[in-house]
Formats: sequence, structure tokens, C-alpha cells
Amino acid sequence: MKAEFTRKLMRWNRDSNKRSMPWKGEKDPYKIWLSEIILQQTRVEQGLKYYEKFISKFPTIEHLAVSPDEKVYKLWEGLGYYSRCKNLLETARRVKNEYSGTFPDNYEEIKKLKGIGPYTAAAISSFAYNEPRAVVDGNVQRVLARYFGLTTPIDTNQGKNFYQQLAFELLDKKNAALYNQSIMDFGATICKPQNPLCKECIQQRDCVAFNKGFVARLPVKEKMVPKKNRWLYYFLIEVDDQIYIRKRAEKDIWQNLHEFVLLETPGPINRPFQGLPFLKKLFQRGVYDINHTSKLYKQQLTHQTIQGQFILVIAKKELVTLYSYMLVKKDKLHQYAFPKFINKFLEERTGFPA
Ligand code: SF4
Repeated sequence: MKAEFTRKLMRWNRDSNKRSMPWKGEKDPYKIWLSEIILQQTRVEQGLKYYEKFISKFPTIEHLAVSPDEKVYKLWEGLGYYSRCKNLLETARRVKNEYSGTFPDNYEEIKKLKGIGPYTAAAISSFAYNEPRAVVDGNVQRVLARYFGLTTPIDTNQGKNFYQQLAFELLDKKNAALYNQSIMDFGATICKPQNPLCKECIQQRDCVAFNKGFVARLPVKEKMVPKKNRWLYYFLIEVDDQIYIRKRAEKDIWQNLHEFVLLETPGPINRPFQGLPFLKKLFQRGVYDINHTSKLYKQQLTHQTIQGQFILVIAKKELVTLYSYMLVKKDKLHQYAFPKFINKFLEERTGFPA
């Protein structure tokens, strides 16, 4: 059954796989790495644009390594998970300094680089160097769980090891690059998460989930992570045409991106912002005017729902309480990288003065 799966998968790839990607067949480990890191963040259509932007600005890993952080974060803007952008820079610099600008040529060495887990290391080592390593991500786990009718949860350590071992047994060791690309394409276009194309699937005859009628119930996950609600109120405190911003440093969402003065609350604020104790403390009895309040903004992250508003506050003078923030001219704000939640507001600014 295992040999049959591999044989049919390779046949499907040869005869019917129409999926084209700019990085398909790519042998440059830098481009493979970049595409994999970007695709961990987003859907393929959106990822393509980011990939092309990155390659045109940073055609080699050396270009990326010597770029100022700010420029890279700006380009990453909108992809989310900014710790991955930080790792991207760190790895680019390490490859430049410790490996003379060339990616290490084997799985074990590649896996030691920051931000590169087993999946990306397998992708780079197999695509660039044809090392017999099997890529295993959610797509591959889904295909295997369905075809073999497996109910082992995919999100436990035991489950991960199990699928990794099975994937390795199925791998066409002599054609690792081609096999890995085939199973990824098969998962993305045929054995899709929703509405898989079972009717036209080459694996249908032996597919356990299809034959027993439980395709929609696989793969199984053990943990369902509950979504957390967060309320963020951003105060745009303006002094002489300048606004206070700061870089987020905490180990949290949006690390290394910028933000306005933030008040995070456990629930919505249902009272006028004027006279809010938070503002009183900030202004230390000084005078301020609340000039505008935005509509409610909402953003869904993987495990968090972010909601909040933007409030424009005009101050008469600089605030000593905001010593950890910097004042930036309003027309220079676009030079800083902000999270999508703030950028959406900045694009619309409905009712706010320019
Ligand atoms: S028959 Fe359906 S569930 Fe089975 S491998 Fe094909 S697409 Fe996936």
C-alpha cells in the first residue's frame, strides 16, 4: 500500500500536476528558504507578492543580511508573526558571517539556524541538494491521515513523530525534491482541507477515509486552542504636528512593530474617554483635548480576536510620562512599520484630520 501510494503520487505529478509556482524547481537555497518562511504566514496568492517583493529588493542573502532592520520589517508588514521576520534577519546575517553567504548544504546544519524547524530544513535540503528528507506539514499530515485512515492526532509530539516516520517511509529517496513537491501540490490542489477532489483522485481506490466515508473527519487534532479576546485602545497623542509612537519589545504579538500609546483593557470601554484615569495619569493634571474617536476595529489572529479604537488627543506640550515613546512628525509615520490593525486605521482615518 505504501509503495502504491508513492508510485501513484509520482504518476499524478508527472501526468496531471498543473500547479505552477515561481519557486518550483528552484535550487537556490536562499530562495527556497524565503518562499517557505513567507508561505508559513499566508495564503499562496498573497505570499507570491511578498516573495517577489523580497527577491527584487534582496536578490541574494547578502543583500538581506546587510539591510537595516527597519527596511525588512517594512517589507514584511502585513504578514504577521514578526518574530519570524526577526529570525529571518538573524539567519541571513549568520549565513553571511559564518558560512560566507552560502547556506549550509545538509539538513542537520540547516536546522541549527534560527527560525528553521524540521519542515523548512527538509524543504531546503531536499529541494536544493536532493537530500532524502521528507517534508511534513499540515498538508502532508492530512493526506496521510486520510489515505491510511489514521486517527492519531497530528498535534501531539507522539503524532508528529509518527507522521514524520511514515512520511520518510513513503519518500522516494532517489527523487526527494520531486516527491516532496508532489505531495505538497497534491495536498494543496486535490486532497484539500475542505471539499477534497475525491472523485478525480488517483489515490481513491485505496484511500481508507474515502472508502469508509470519513474524509471530513480527518485529520484529528487533540487540542482545540480557545480564542482569546483582547481590547486595545490606541491614543494618538499629538503635540505640534508630531505623534508619540514606540516599538513593541515585549514577547507578544507584533514584536518589533510600532504602535501609538496603548491602553489594553480586559473588556470594552463603555464610558467617555475624556476623564479616563489612564489619561489623567498620563497628563498629570495637564490640559488635553479629545479630538476624534474612531469606529471599532477588529482583527482576527490565529488564537486571538483583537478589537479596539483609535482616539486622537491633542496635547499642549510634551509629556514627561511618555519618556519611553518617541515623537514622530505626522507626515513621517509611513516610514515606520506598524501592525495591520493600525495600518488599516491609518489608511482609512475616517473623520480624523489629515
Ligand atoms: S480520495 Fe479523497 S481523501 Fe483520499 S487521498 Fe484522494 S482526495 Fe484525499
